[in-house]
Amino acid sequence: MKETSEMYLEKDQQYIWHAMGKKNSSFRPLIVEKAEGVWVEDVEQNRYIDAMSGLWCVNIGYGREELVDAASEQMKKMAYYPMSHSHVPAIELGEQLNNWLDGEYVIFFSNSGSEANEVAFKIARQFHHQKGESGRYKILSRYRSYHGNTMGALAATGQAQRKYKYEPLANGFIHTVPPDCYHCPMNEKPESCHFECAKMIDQTLTWELDETVAAVIMEPMITGGGVLIPPEGYLQEVEKICKRHGVLLIIDEVICGFGRTGEKFGFMHEGIKPDIITMAKGITSGYLPLAATAVKKEIFDAFSRSEQYEHFRHINTFGGNPAACALAIKNLELLEKEQMVQQSQKSGDYLGEEMKELYQHPNVGDIRSKGLLMGIEFVEDKLTRKPIDVACINQLITHCKEEGGVIIGKNGDTVAGFNNVLTLAPPLCIEKEELNTIISAVKKAVKEVLIT
Ligand code: PMP
Repeated sequence: MKETSEMYLEKDQQYIWHAMGKKNSSFRPLIVEKAEGVWVEDVEQNRYIDAMSGLWCVNIGYGREELVDAASEQMKKMAYYPMSHSHVPAIELGEQLNNWLDGEYVIFFSNSGSEANEVAFKIARQFHHQKGESGRYKILSRYRSYHGNTMGALAATGQAQRKYKYEPLANGFIHTVPPDCYHCPMNEKPESCHFECAKMIDQTLTWELDETVAAVIMEPMITGGGVLIPPEGYLQEVEKICKRHGVLLIIDEVICGFGRTGEKFGFMHEGIKPDIITMAKGITSGYLPLAATAVKKEIFDAFSRSEQYEHFRHINTFGGNPAACALAIKNLELLEKEQMVQQSQKSGDYLGEEMKELYQHPNVGDIRSKGLLMGIEFVEDKLTRKPIDVACINQLITHCKEEGGVIIGKNGDTVAGFNNVLTLAPPLCIEKEELNTIISAVKKAVKEVLIT
């Protein structure tokens, strides 16, 4: 087995350009062959708990045959047809997404989270155009956010480290402060927060001249930027601000959607009604590529009201692929039937409670979680809150994997070059015993790597 694994590693070195991976001889990717529930198994038959659900996407868990069957039956019946016309799985999924969204939305399908966001930007710009406000083109987002890898979505992303080698990106993207309560950019204290960071959105829209702004985009909780959970009421404040300035509110649910945060969608924690919602990842639990941009009915109507209105000039070959839609329908059906959203809330509460003990450690600065989304921020010391060296974070990750059999992630303030937040986002189907394995692995790693 070892030989096979070495052979694959050699060929991998030769042929594969890894996402984010450094191409050097010391990089040894996990070569995964099988997966079931929360477990993945590599070519040497080592088993690990995937506490990151791949890239925060395998919400239902690995190995669900019902999903495979749904896709395969659809492929046998009708494998492909473009969405310039229509097909039954897309229509049924559109209806099901409306039930999940609890509102009246029209769905545009595409293939990735980045693309879903590009669609949102284009719809927002054209919407204003059609209302006679063609001066509204800017998109406002927050520093530390991640919205994708394409030129528009990357321009919206608020992490300079990811962007600066690829400039110039798309024009018209502007940024403001994130809700980072542990290092509040407005110097507020959580116990007496006045949403100064949300007010900065208000202020930025005024400074930028709001009649030049088409939309604000944000995740309900910043995920890849280090798991930043906004203070309660923040999203409601943002919704009011957007309305006041005539700006559309796009909520990026690419990670937070489909139960990750203990609600069907992250924005539902605050009962807001976003104008546009983008989603991907959990829509198929990562089994097949699919993404969607859900647009409020009244915005869609502006595109179809009469002959003088232009249609949305956007087409993609693979968006709304019938097999992916059929699989997504089954995925959503099972997530609902097996009450995985509630499960995410319950397991998240347990995980949050059990991890609190880590606060006793001098390098554990902040633990943030919502449902089965967690970030643990490591600092040099609690007084200065200076980020711990990334080498320590890498050691923690290796320890969790090698000693505890658990795969965890790291994220953080990549603008400043800090990756000091350990991230956890296990499949929502995770059992208590498996959660305990993750908890012990992380605690043991902290104790044995960060010796006090
Ligand atoms: N938005 C958010 C919040 C994301 O986390 C990601 C990817 N991690 C994207 C958009 C882009 O999605 P994709 O990688 O499918 O293009």
